Amino acid sequence: MNEKELTQLVKAISLKYFDYPFDGQVIINYRFKTTGGRYHLNDHHIEINAHFLKKKYYQDLVGIIKHELCHYYLHVHHLGYRHRDQDFKYLLKKVGASRYAPDIGLRKKPKYLYCCHNCGQRYPRQRRLNTRRFLCGKCHGKLFLLKKDLH
Ligand SMILES: [Zn+2]
Ligand SMILES: [Zn+2]
Repeated sequence: MNEKELTQLVKAISLKYFDYPFDGQVIINYRFKTTGGRYHLNDHHIEINAHFLKKKYYQDLVGIIKHELCHYYLHVHHLGYRHRDQDFKYLLKKVGASRYAPDIGLRKKPKYLYCCHNCGQRYPRQRRLNTRRFLCGKCHGKLFLLKKDLH
């Protein structure tokens, strides 16, 4: 899918689910890793993560587009367009948009897995933790290193 086709898809989704035209630009972003898309407040353009343009991620792509269009729609209508706003949460649900960027393995895999001695809660981490200082968030028990290098 190229930028033109993607733009057409965004416009179609906007009309179908929001009953409102999208008149901004759609740009493919090749550098996004964990970000699915981004809506820009200044000129209403939307960036979409290139990884999601593959056929097998089509459903995810639609979810991301809906998510960005929620920002757009609410913003141009002077409603709560931020993630924490009730308007946003409500609209997100209504149109069936994704809350977060779907995980397609682009996220960094955790290197360390810590476990609580007391309650068994697990803590995957990118970096080493100081287990003397860092206690379990659930029960304040001590943590220990269960596994290293999970990939
Ligand atoms: Zn968002
Ligand atoms: Zn615990």
